[in-house]
Amino acid sequence: MIAGPCAAESERQLLDTAAQLQEEVRAHGWQLALYRAGVWKPRSRPDSFEGMGEAALPWLAEVQRQFGFPVCVEVMTPHQVELCRKHGISAFWVGARTGVNPATVQEIANAVKGDPVTVLVKNPMVPDFKLWAGNVERFLHAGVTKVMAVHRGFADSTENVYRNAPRWEIPIELKVQFPDLPILCDPSHICGHTRWIAQIAQVALAYGFDGLMMECHAHPEQALSDAEQQLTPRQWAELVETLSFKTNVPNRDLVKQRALLENVDTQLSELLSMRFHIVDEIARIKRDNNLPVVQPQQWAQVRKRYLKADQDIQYQEFIEQFLEVLHINSIKRQQ
Ligand code: PEP
Ligand code: MN
Repeated sequence: MIAGPCAAESERQLLDTAAQLQEEVRAHGWQLALYRAGVWKPRSRPDSFEGMGEAALPWLAEVQRQFGFPVCVEVMTPHQVELCRKHGISAFWVGARTGVNPATVQEIANAVKGDPVTVLVKNPMVPDFKLWAGNVERFLHAGVTKVMAVHRGFADSTENVYRNAPRWEIPIELKVQFPDLPILCDPSHICGHTRWIAQIAQVALAYGFDGLMMECHAHPEQALSDAEQQLTPRQWAELVETLSFKTNVPNRDLVKQRALLENVDTQLSELLSMRFHIVDEIARIKRDNNLPVVQPQQWAQVRKRYLKADQDIQYQEFIEQFLEVLHINSIKRQQ
């Protein structure tokens, strides 16, 4: 279990969050493997909060001292590795944005050569298995013994319910090719919103992931970055309590296919719920403009769009039935 805020914002915020986390882990008899907080935040837009920088490192050293939690931060350059070393921060992660640049990852790996550090390698933004595996290898080849991978989902240009698409087959492939490499899941960055975190965390555990990295903040609503996906330490503990840590991975190929299916089903159900909202909006527009609910030509066109002659006959039958159900329900709803 790794928990902590997206970003270090102030010493107070770091200490308050750590105190609350400590209360929870003590109450439940758990242990926190690492306390996380970003100090340098690589943001897409330059006017976003980019982190407190080096000034925050002594605050994290204080968290380490007061609560005994080893801390980890994100590093993007060898110089930042150097600063972490100076402040006694001995665990860090390579983020998804840095992960797309093998040259930089290699420079970071060279900078830690020989250090007894823990390195978490997040998956790169792009769903490129080799890039992620290669980044892991750069640290293994540098002689780092405590390397772990972190699955945080992949940027996806298609409309997606999650902030980052899980693409479960990719971390599972990593598990197959690196059986000794611990793989954690970061459901906070996959989901982008607290409401799906429990579900994604549970899927990860069921697939045999070795741990979870989650964003926790004493006051999520005041967070300077990723406010919507951060849990209070209390919410975090309540969520962890609901998780089942039983893993059942009899056949990796089957697990991989199931992961793909689960991904599709989750998105289907979210998309159908989105569809319901759109249907309501259409009903409102029709009512305001005195248009009839049923517009047969419109529906004929929709049917044509999805029924293609060259498709599997069984699939065609299925899609016809499925569209029919959608259509009937839309009409009912609009009426
Ligand atoms: C983070 O963990 O706060 C972060 C920025 O991670 P990622 O690189 O996965 O976006
Ligand atoms: Mn974050």
